[in-house]
Amino acid sequence: MTLTLGADTVSASPAPATVRTRVTVPLRFADGYATTAEVFTFTGLADGGEHLALGLGDWRGAADRAGAGGEAPLVRPHSECLTGDVLGSERCDCGPQLREAAERITGAGGVLLYLRQEGRGIGLYAKLDAYALQDAGLDTYQANLALGRGEDERDYTAAAQMLTALGVDRVRLLSNNPDKAAQLGLLGVAVTERVPTGVHLSAANARYLAVKRDHTAHTLDLPLAG
Ligand SMILES: [Zn+2]
Repeated sequence: MTLTLGADTVSASPAPATVRTRVTVPLRFADGYATTAEVFTFTGLADGGEHLALGLGDWRGAADRAGAGGEAPLVRPHSECLTGDVLGSERCDCGPQLREAAERITGAGGVLLYLRQEGRGIGLYAKLDAYALQDAGLDTYQANLALGRGEDERDYTAAAQMLTALGVDRVRLLSNNPDKAAQLGLLGVAVTERVPTGVHLSAANARYLAVKRDHTAHTLDLPLAG
């Protein structure tokens, strides 16, 4: 069975994936915040990408409590952003969101999914091409379309497969993006609550955040931005 969601077609019942490797990785962010991740790789992910799941805090306890009817684990599907996550680019808010998610998920117990979906799925070079078009006046979504790509090509089938493989079938979703919640729900992961991330506003990303809020109904409380 397939369901059409916007321009994308997603499978309603993805094939199961299995855990391939589990390894403990201590993390220390640039600002000194440290935590420890149980990092998982998988076999059988739908798109063949090398996506990671990071179990943070007491994530197993949170999953067990959810299975017994308690609160669901806190989960963030984070889309890879080399420029933001690694280089500290201020054109977007990905780096601060990743840092915030690591701490909040560690505190609550949950899973951070690191999805290899650079540039909303169009790839790193195309994202930088889109930046050039944005500098010429297009917004972030118009620029993708001008490149002949979708506004947002991300598919969360692999995210759902990873959560299922870890025994997580109910989540509190740490995200401002309504599309992530909608897709995961269709893929069999129950979103019991949407937990917004903070607003990481800078002079360089104000227009980008305003367009996300206005164009795709992201939950962003921006002070007079845009
Ligand atoms: Zn980014």
